[in-house]
Amino acid sequence: SNRVILGPLVGAIDQGTSSTRFLVFNAKTAELLSHHQVEIKQKFPKEGWVEQDPKEILRSVYECVEKTCEKLTQLSIDITNIKAIGVSNQRETTVVWDKTTGEPLYNAIVWLDLRTQSTVERLLKRIPGKNKNFFKNRTGLPLSTYFSAVKIRWLLDNVEEIRHAVSEGRAMFGTVDSWIIWSLTGAKNGGVHCTDVTNASRTMLFNIHTLEWDTELCQFFDIPMELLPKVRSSSEIYGLMKSGALTGVPISGCLGDQSAALVGQMCFQDGQAKNTYGTGCFLLCNTGSKPVLSDHGLLTTVAYKLGRDKPACYALEGSVAIAGAVVRWLRDNLGIVKTTEEVEKLAAEVGTSYGCYFVPAFSGLYAPYWEPSARGIICGLTQFTNRNHIAFAALEAVCFQTREILDAMNQDYGIPLGQLQVDGGMTSNKILMQLQADILCIPVVKPSMPETTALGAAMAAGAAEGVGVWSLNPGDLTAVTCERFEPQINPEESEFRYARWKKAVMKSMGWES
Ligand code: ADP
Repeated sequence: SNRVILGPLVGAIDQGTSSTRFLVFNAKTAELLSHHQVEIKQKFPKEGWVEQDPKEILRSVYECVEKTCEKLTQLSIDITNIKAIGVSNQRETTVVWDKTTGEPLYNAIVWLDLRTQSTVERLLKRIPGKNKNFFKNRTGLPLSTYFSAVKIRWLLDNVEEIRHAVSEGRAMFGTVDSWIIWSLTGAKNGGVHCTDVTNASRTMLFNIHTLEWDTELCQFFDIPMELLPKVRSSSEIYGLMKSGALTGVPISGCLGDQSAALVGQMCFQDGQAKNTYGTGCFLLCNTGSKPVLSDHGLLTTVAYKLGRDKPACYALEGSVAIAGAVVRWLRDNLGIVKTTEEVEKLAAEVGTSYGCYFVPAFSGLYAPYWEPSARGIICGLTQFTNRNHIAFAALEAVCFQTREILDAMNQDYGIPLGQLQVDGGMTSNKILMQLQADILCIPVVKPSMPETTALGAAMAAGAAEGVGVWSLNPGDLTAVTCERFEPQINPEESEFRYARWKKAVMKSMGWES
């Protein structure tokens, strides 16, 4: 082809739990021009442990950038039109590296890793009334295995090499955004050590009101503040690419993946929400400039801050640890499907779970329960139950968990959603989308361009001061076309199944305590 696009382009690195992608968008039309994706290995060295190799993450980023640039060149699109790069990333996942060698000092501890359960229990003993919500006013978060602070604590307690590096002033901590930006902007020992407010708000060391690292929290977790990256807004120039096809291009956007999806779905108004179905499932509702604290097990998080002088916006968030991961488990651990796509066919063949309920509490339960002692169960089995029913129940579990979050959100925020905007890898599954509409009793709407996480990161990068190729004025934003799924079962049927689900959840609790 002889396609030539003269307008500015923006790239986005989307480093997720299951894969890394690089995508390039036209900044004027938001059209996705080309992309490349590489799956990331997850290591399970012990029960409950989940790790990734930070070097593999980095290699996957470089590979995706290079391959995408090759594809663009083949399309006769000039890659010198790429004016900025945004980063969106799996949140909370913790990396500690040596700044003198650029080498990681341990594998990345992935967000859903459970090794810190005993660390959490030990820390709880030092809190009045063992109240896991003790720091919620300041951080928006309960004390849980999920957030980075306890993961850093575990590394300091258990990895001699890290303690040694810390004592010699060689250690740096970062979530995956920091690791990527530090590496891309400086190769060995020269990069920019920073993070953005959205990622910082998931560490439990960050005060979400002052938007600064919290000295007292660092003392409580006994984490030296020298390890921490500098906190920046989500949209500003952090540094320039130091190698590869895009050398010299500024990295000027950074958002945790769920924040990026909120931006990519254009949820800029109070009360607008989106649900992303990836490894886990995350429903975020924009609450504007006001952080809303939840009484129903939701988190308060920084949604975005699109510029140094722009105000921060906040979100209420319901986090579900296991969504797409249950489908991967059906593939890798039970072998009942060869590909994750196949689960749709299996579920469609029966169209019902036949009374089987599957609570995939592999990493305990997150919102709204925050119960690390929960473990997965499959119940309601009869002689008749087969793998199709279990596949159906696995998909239904994702929908029930979303229903629980939405119920909590309605109680905390009081503006019931008229429809749910969705995105993420699992949303290509039409059975899942229909089931979700049935179980929520509201329509589910999916944008025709599903890469909203990357789009959000690209928007933040393109809009940054000194780049200015992407307009975030509401009137200039391209309207997204959507696919809609309307509820098709009656609400009584839906309520009956939901009540059964709740019963199953009760059975999963307290297993590992
Ligand atoms: P992440 O951002 O967490 O890396 P993605 O948004 O890339 O996740 O989605 C990948 C997840 O979606 C995987 O866990 C996979 O099992 C699941 N998935 C992908 N396609 C399907 C499908 N057609 N049906 C069900 N699950 C799917």
